[in-house]
Amino acid sequence: MITKHASQHRDLCAVDTIPVAVAQRRILEATEAVTGADTVPVAAALHRVLAEAVVSPLDVPAHTNAAVDGFAVRGSDLPREGTGLLQIIGTALAGRPFPSPLGAGQAVRIMTGAPLPEGADTVLMQEQVVEKDGFIQIGAHHRRGENVRHAGEDIRRGETVLPAGKYLLPPDLGLLASLGVGEATVTRRLRVGLLSTGDEILPPGSFHQTGKIYDSNRFSLRGAVTARLVAELVDHGIAPDDPATLKRTFQEMARRCDVILCSGGVSVGSADYTKEALAQLGSVEFWKVAIKPGRPLAFGRIGDCLFFGLPGNPVAVLVTFYQFVLPALFKRAGVRRPPLLPTFPARTLEKLRKKPGRTEFQRGILERDEAGRWQVRTTGKQGSGILSSMSRGDCFIVLEHDRGPVEAGEWVEVLPFSALM
Ligand code: AMP
Ligand code: MG
Repeated sequence: MITKHASQHRDLCAVDTIPVAVAQRRILEATEAVTGADTVPVAAALHRVLAEAVVSPLDVPAHTNAAVDGFAVRGSDLPREGTGLLQIIGTALAGRPFPSPLGAGQAVRIMTGAPLPEGADTVLMQEQVVEKDGFIQIGAHHRRGENVRHAGEDIRRGETVLPAGKYLLPPDLGLLASLGVGEATVTRRLRVGLLSTGDEILPPGSFHQTGKIYDSNRFSLRGAVTARLVAELVDHGIAPDDPATLKRTFQEMARRCDVILCSGGVSVGSADYTKEALAQLGSVEFWKVAIKPGRPLAFGRIGDCLFFGLPGNPVAVLVTFYQFVLPALFKRAGVRRPPLLPTFPARTLEKLRKKPGRTEFQRGILERDEAGRWQVRTTGKQGSGILSSMSRGDCFIVLEHDRGPVEAGEWVEVLPFSALM
């Protein structure tokens, strides 16, 4: 056992830094969806993932109905030329259909959404007829079937409305409810373990001590996970830079969690024990990615549990969370088609420092110029510990792997925070 781990560790050190896209692919390849499902009320299904396809129990719309306010008539009564006169015999409201069939020469006043009376196949817009003394006068410009919504034209009974693996968003909840569906079968909640490491890390709310800093990573991560998924967070607090404690904590977390998010201690400092502990308990897939901020990032597994050893620096934690962890959480939760991470071009108002050979995520503030085009400036100093840059900024400025320094006025891709959080 020990020899295997020692050689594994040597191999690791030989592996070079890998590009972001390679790290993303390898993480997804190593990630499998959890099994197990819950049944939840539709009202509580936001950000859950369908475990089974939903088949419509109904036609939508359920009845052929009026698309506008006006008069339901028979197509055979529409005049070919000149005008025609039809007698108004009653009213159909949404939720209160007209009870009897419509005969030749007759019309029923109808409101949007009301079912068409039997015999009617056409709805004339109120504004396009002249109403007088219980009759309507109509012109020759109408078409049989106009302004009618047909039963089942949106969804047919028995049709798959939402596939298994659908990540449920607000319109999906409305759609399920519109079918009369009260509950959804969703994949079970992921159990996500959180741990901050470092002898210097204090829990917020405790007395400040010289040389120590307050823990922010567990709090950013907690928010980042729960903003996108309904997960059960298993918070293990703060662990010191002690190999034995780390090993024990990881082992315990791996028993309880589907994914571990640990931050700090993953670099090459003398107090960085995370990847060593991971290698001893399970396996390390890689631990260096060509990304700034966030280069030290250990990914591996302990049994079935995925392990992310995130950097200690608070901005690096969030950058790596969105690039590497969130896609894996979606896949682990059973999401088949994860939400897009859309970037769009903006003109930079500033010169940007950038070295080729790594993808950079600088923090920017977006605005539009007089012509309505996006332009971006940085939040200022770009240190990976400057967490306020994420609060003040509203996007990442994504500088591609091969790109060098950027001049003011050049186009850069931006990824708005609103797509992530
Ligand atoms: P490390 O990777 O452990 O060397 O950490 C890199 C930097 O991030 C150090 O300055 C740490 O003090 C800081 N850091 C580590 N963990 C946290 C945390 N949970 N909250 C805030 N800062 C942290
Ligand atoms: Mg540390």
